[in-house]
Amino acid sequence: MSGSETALAAARALVLFSGGQDSATCLAWALARFAAVETVGFDYGQRHRVELECRLAFREGLRRAFPNWAEKLGEDHVIDLGVLGRLSDTALTRERAIAFGESGLPNTFVPGRNLLFFTFAAAIGYRRGARHLVGGMCETDYSGYPDCRDDTLKALQAALSLGMDHRFVIHTPLMWRDKAQTWALAEELGGERLLSLIREETMSCYFGERETRHPWGKGCGECPACALRRAGWERFTVSRTP
Ligand code: ZN
Repeated sequence: MSGSETALAAARALVLFSGGQDSATCLAWALARFAAVETVGFDYGQRHRVELECRLAFREGLRRAFPNWAEKLGEDHVIDLGVLGRLSDTALTRERAIAFGESGLPNTFVPGRNLLFFTFAAAIGYRRGARHLVGGMCETDYSGYPDCRDDTLKALQAALSLGMDHRFVIHTPLMWRDKAQTWALAEELGGERLLSLIREETMSCYFGERETRHPWGKGCGECPACALRRAGWERFTVSRTP
């Protein structure tokens, strides 16, 4: 172990955990590195609310399948950000939504969402003694959300550290991975047990469709989130075949 890895192994982390594939992989990544890990989720009336319901099932599944991680997995926090859902759905902001559409961003975009998430996470981290904040943001596969970009999050790390006079480190282990590489990371961290837990207990589908099973998990199979997840799984399984 290098000096910096040893320091991480004694530290406490807070993971932004939505119940989707990416943040579930980040949770495992954090459990493999830190002494203690807590989770935070945000309820803002999102369409795929079912993701939030998956959170506890996934945490329980992790505890059962990985006893050495179970002892590190601490409290879960759920923050009510209903105000964010209302902001992005008012008649006032509909015109803005059209402008965003013309700039190429999808209409699922909630402006500045991750800035708020990390700011609330930092407030919890401050209180809980967790300076390491972990999120599943990624520049590789996504639709150009500016608040997922590496530069944005580095700037936010500096702003939070200055604004709370407390050193925070934002970790984004998926930033430069595509979906196939995210599945590969899960396999590296927890083998087949973690892969099947992510397939069974996480949800990415925009429509929250839970009844239909696919090799890559549950979902409608058609929405952009399902298409991304399926394509990643297919590339990952091809890459594993000798
Ligand atoms: Zn879907």
